[in-house]
Amino acid sequence: MGKISKAGVVLRGVAQNKELKFVVGLSTPITQTILEAHKPSAQGLLAMSRAATAVGLLSATLKGRQQVGIQVNGDGPLGELYALSNAQGELRVTANQPAAAAEPETEVSPVVGQGRFTLIKTSDAGEPYRGTVPIFTGGIAEDLAYYFMFSEQIPTACGLGESITDDGLITGGYLVQSLPNPSDETLRTLEQRVVTIPPLKSILNAEHPLDDLLELLFMDDYEVLEESTISFKCPCERPKFARTLLTLGKAELTQIREEDGEMNISCHFCGENYHFNYEEIGALIVGARD
Ligand SMILES: [Zn+2]
Repeated sequence: MGKISKAGVVLRGVAQNKELKFVVGLSTPITQTILEAHKPSAQGLLAMSRAATAVGLLSATLKGRQQVGIQVNGDGPLGELYALSNAQGELRVTANQPAAAAEPETEVSPVVGQGRFTLIKTSDAGEPYRGTVPIFTGGIAEDLAYYFMFSEQIPTACGLGESITDDGLITGGYLVQSLPNPSDETLRTLEQRVVTIPPLKSILNAEHPLDDLLELLFMDDYEVLEESTISFKCPCERPKFARTLLTLGKAELTQIREEDGEMNISCHFCGENYHFNYEEIGALIVGARD
């Protein structure tokens, strides 16, 4: 079975005369699992953590069997970055080169680079919906806000960040969006608030970071409607990898068995290793096509 993290928390609600909707969340245990599963560079960890936090925040807006994914295809050394979550907040994330680094190493955007940012929404019915915009900054939060503004015409403010403490990295973020027909005053207030809000790194290490964050964003004009959990949970399992191996065909499987005597496959999302010994490859050869 794939890796599972402890749970982070997300709060969903409405604010500012109920003209705005928000999700705020803490994703620290997810970031810890990304660190263990992917052995990333500092920049790789933050890029993956922010993408995971983003789909975690978005998961609070999903229902039933809906899923949401973020795919970032930049020309930086990280390669493709991909995170997805279901409506239960069970999410996973992968990148082509998690250990990549690029100057200046104090920012996330250099490992991401320039390219395309895609949001993918899946439900039971029909093809997944995909919306693509150019990467705006490569810092992920600004890219997600830019996506909603220009692809879906929804005024959006997003922050994704991290704070380094003695106990390790604390990560989290916020997503604030306008409900239909907001007043000009509400939009102006939000814009000003997002500009004046202290950096997330100084909020996340507080004792009650989400309360502080909501207070800073909305003063006392907000209402939490729902609290839910988010966690890194990879659905990979041995039978799925066995089915993939079957598609190699009898000849290639036989060659692998004779040359290596065994096979090791790692899950791209969680790093879990699946080992197939000589006898098990033999069983696959029997089941494979010619
Ligand atoms: Zn996995």
